Amino acid sequence: MIKPIKQKKTTQSQTINPADTPVMNPGFDQCSLYLCPEQAAFKITPLPTLITALQEIALISKQINPQKANHHYFIGDRYLDYIAYLGCAPAIQFEANEDNNKFCFIKIHQHQTATLIYSQKQSKAPQCPHCKKPVKEWENTITASTIHCGQCHSTASIEDFNWRKMAGYAQLFIEITDIFPKEAIPQQLLLDKLSNISNVDWHYFFSCQQAITKNAAS
Ligand SMILES: [Zn+2]
Repeated sequence: MIKPIKQKKTTQSQTINPADTPVMNPGFDQCSLYLCPEQAAFKITPLPTLITALQEIALISKQINPQKANHHYFIGDRYLDYIAYLGCAPAIQFEANEDNNKFCFIKIHQHQTATLIYSQKQSKAPQCPHCKKPVKEWENTITASTIHCGQCHSTASIEDFNWRKMAGYAQLFIEITDIFPKEAIPQQLLLDKLSNISNVDWHYFFSCQQAITKNAAS
């Protein structure tokens, strides 16, 4: 898979329209890499503890638009030590003007309860922890915390299903934007650092959302 070339420098007068950007996979242009704890109920309180730790290991740097009070950060100096891009060297855009979300930055999400983030594109049916078969009808049998497998007639926790790296169930997520599935993967070094910070193991997945067809900012 080839990374679209995104070397376009933005200026203050220019608005970014996703339709202007050459994209190899037109239906996949809102994809991210997510890292999350393997324990769905795990969260970090207070969240700034995690932010400080991620800044100390230089995965993230300063906050983007702090006045908006959301947890969006520029990548840190050691980002490329932690995230390995596969294949040809991509043109990664790490900076943007205030209105441009089409670049690589890092979002920290922490939800009140465990939340399933799953890919709307290139999704895969999760595998049942009991019979190991893919449960294609999972969206019809999911509850707040379980899924029923119609093949072996068992019910198991959402986190026990194998989501095959295209979904994750957690309260806490580190999202790295603008990465296509399998285009880049976290290095063991990063997973080890996250484990040291939180005392739980972490894993990763990819998720792609529906392409935005209208540019609301214009
Ligand atoms: Zn089953």
